[in-house]
Amino acid sequence: MGRVFYFCSMTNQDDQFKKVISHAKEYGYVFQSSEIYDGLSAVYDYAQNGAELKKNIRDYWWTAMVQIHDNIVGIDSSIFMHPTTWKASGHVDAFNDPLIDNKDSKKRYRADVLIEDYCAKIETKIDKEIKKAEKRFGDAFNKEEFITTNPRVVGYYENIKTILSRMGRSLENEDLADVKALIEELEIADPVTGSRNWTEVKQFNLMFGTKLGASAESAMDLYLRPETAQGIFANFLNVQKSGRMKIPFGIAQTGKAFRNEIVARQFIFRMREFEQMEMQFFIKPGTQKEWFEHWKEERLKWHLSLGMGEENYRFHDHEKMAHYADAATDIEFKFPFGFKELEGIHSRTDFDLKQHEEYSGKKLQYFDHETKESYTPYVLETSIGLDRMFLAVFSNSLVEEELDNNTTRTVLKLPSVLAPVKAAILPLVKKDGLPEIAQQIQDDLKWDFNVVYDDKDAVGRRYRRQDANGTPFCITVDHDTLEDNTVTIRHRDTMEQTRVKIEDLSKIIKNEVDIKSWLKKM
Ligand code: ATP
Repeated sequence: MGRVFYFCSMTNQDDQFKKVISHAKEYGYVFQSSEIYDGLSAVYDYAQNGAELKKNIRDYWWTAMVQIHDNIVGIDSSIFMHPTTWKASGHVDAFNDPLIDNKDSKKRYRADVLIEDYCAKIETKIDKEIKKAEKRFGDAFNKEEFITTNPRVVGYYENIKTILSRMGRSLENEDLADVKALIEELEIADPVTGSRNWTEVKQFNLMFGTKLGASAESAMDLYLRPETAQGIFANFLNVQKSGRMKIPFGIAQTGKAFRNEIVARQFIFRMREFEQMEMQFFIKPGTQKEWFEHWKEERLKWHLSLGMGEENYRFHDHEKMAHYADAATDIEFKFPFGFKELEGIHSRTDFDLKQHEEYSGKKLQYFDHETKESYTPYVLETSIGLDRMFLAVFSNSLVEEELDNNTTRTVLKLPSVLAPVKAAILPLVKKDGLPEIAQQIQDDLKWDFNVVYDDKDAVGRRYRRQDANGTPFCITVDHDTLEDNTVTIRHRDTMEQTRVKIEDLSKIIKNEVDIKSWLKKM
């Protein structure tokens, strides 16, 4: 087993991210949409491996959130909803992002993201100070003490806090002039050209509009849903009654959402058409703090169960709360371009149900049979982008490994439970009856796992191809197989090869890729 190093340690972040994008294309994971017409900005297609990886992530989430919880059920509501839904939810009036243009470069940015990126740079300085101190103090280094007492680091933290709370206040008060003033005071420049010649900050609504109906006069204005959550709220009472659900209970769903994002330059991190996996948990008013903590912890455990490194996650509590929330945090992940939001956990109060009651004129209350009282439940939401999760898994798994013989190999170390192909079956040579046995093994295994048969090129090259493809096992049929019905099974990460009986293959693979054993780590 050689030395592993991640792409980021040998190249800068941009190069590493470019490698992720080109690997995703080369190995059939993600393609630019409509590529033959030069693509469509911020819209992507999942290819043969990508569709499997995406499905496996969705299943991993669904099993953890719906299947193993007695009190959470899943639905699949429509992308189109009655347009009043979006008046009630606040999206028509408030689903805006502050945009700013650079007059010289003509490039458009999100004003809040420019300021957040400025703060991220200060965080990089903090990280540098911590690394320096770690070196200086060695084993005696106490990180907690250092970051709370070192004057330079404390100053950096205070600076970030002041900037973010001023931005939060200004956005909350719709004081867009102050957002611009802040950008100017911080001397934030266009990241591409360095120009500081900015326009005013304006609000921009992110919803896509469309029309329903055959004739122009009778057509009804509709929106493509910008989140899946409202389909859950609108069905709250239907599900509660038909499922005889008792509070606390949850409704989950996965599905497409659409946002006309101002800036979308980060591959599948920010798309105009994307997929969400959301769960709304209905609770008794007054219990939201406990449930907020509960779901924060549960969701982090779900992420950690995939073994992608505890150090790559952190919580980020919101300064600026969305119009519906009384507490909100993000689970951030260390993407190739730094820590960014992967999942949001929001305490949404009774805002949504109350709004839908008001706009629809229908009661959306829960009747508690024990206390004989009716009330509007509070809601705790967990909301994760499936595509962002895909990017987190994919980018974290792509490593370049230096081997003992001074060569390198590219390995996609996907958590095996998520890998699109679980095993490749390889006849050592294309003769002597070996292909037939390999095909027989494939025929047996394919009912339980996604497996492939590969007989092209030398076996070493086939191993490399499967490593780069993220396949956890290679099963090789050789001449000994003809004698004793055994094969070698090679593990992607350790490259270790063991001789096993053909009849044991299914059990060995299941042990490694079974959702249950992975989720049990939670
Ligand atoms: P951001 O601040 O990055 O725009 P958000 O706070 O608007 O995200 P939410 O409305 O909380 O995001 O949506 C929940 C989740 O949906 C996010 O955590 C993210 O994983 C995902 N998501 C949101 N917008 C996009 C997008 N344009 N492309 C891909 N995923 C997205």
